[in-house]
Amino acid sequence: MKGRPGRLGRGRLAALGGAFLAAALIGFALVHLLAAPVVPPVVVRTANAHRLLSGGIAAHIDRLLHERLPSGSNHPRLVALTFDDGPYPVETPLLLDELTQLHVPATFFLIGADTELFPALAQRIAGDGDEIANHTQTHPADFQALDAAAVRRELDRGAATLERYVHDPAIRMMMRPPHGRFTLRTVEAAQGDGYHVILWSDDPGDWRAAATPSVIDAHVARYATAPDIILLHSGKINTIEALPSLVARFRMAGFRFVTVGELLRTVPLSQILHPERLRI
Ligand SMILES: [Zn+2]
Repeated sequence: MKGRPGRLGRGRLAALGGAFLAAALIGFALVHLLAAPVVPPVVVRTANAHRLLSGGIAAHIDRLLHERLPSGSNHPRLVALTFDDGPYPVETPLLLDELTQLHVPATFFLIGADTELFPALAQRIAGDGDEIANHTQTHPADFQALDAAAVRRELDRGAATLERYVHDPAIRMMMRPPHGRFTLRTVEAAQGDGYHVILWSDDPGDWRAAATPSVIDAHVARYATAPDIILLHSGKINTIEALPSLVARFRMAGFRFVTVGELLRTVPLSQILHPERLRI
């Protein structure tokens, strides 16, 4: 009789401990989920943008209930370099020379107004086998403030401009919001016009003056994922100088370079939206 309360006590203690541990784990998962920034690398045209992008509690719960992380660790080691803006007369040809030398395909999100100034450069991008997608006609500074009609007008004008000089189905299928600024409204407007909204899994901040080639290289190494979509810019010499070591680093880690279009065609969306974190 003496020992029984003790055994029961230990049992209750263990059960209590287990319950506490489970509660702590659930709490940690919930806090982590609620605190995590919501930036899916890609919002395809058929996706429920509200579920993916909203910070509201209902959207968080919806994601918790509906999203299934891919099982196993067979995430393909594919990396898409994306270059926003331009084309520009000095930096873009240097960038294209470097990409050719490295045998790396890339995706260029071109501005319609810049393409009107330098159409031969857009044609060279296409001729090099790189992908051309839509970065709007005028690159509005306040893109996130535009209403749906203005978003559609920017995209349609940008696409019409690009199509005067080059042919690429991605021009009317893939867009990236200027300055990376978007809201649920602008994303849904782009989706309504048939666009995938291409964001990124890594932004090394190459648009900043302080982003030296080694800073850019170190950032992509630290935040690499499989697969990876890296946000870079067309008009930056530091970005061009970062490319040789950046490319070598990914190749050493077994990655293959692809365009965003190829990534979307070959990798399940669940893996693009839930890339595996790596150190390379
Ligand atoms: Zn831009």
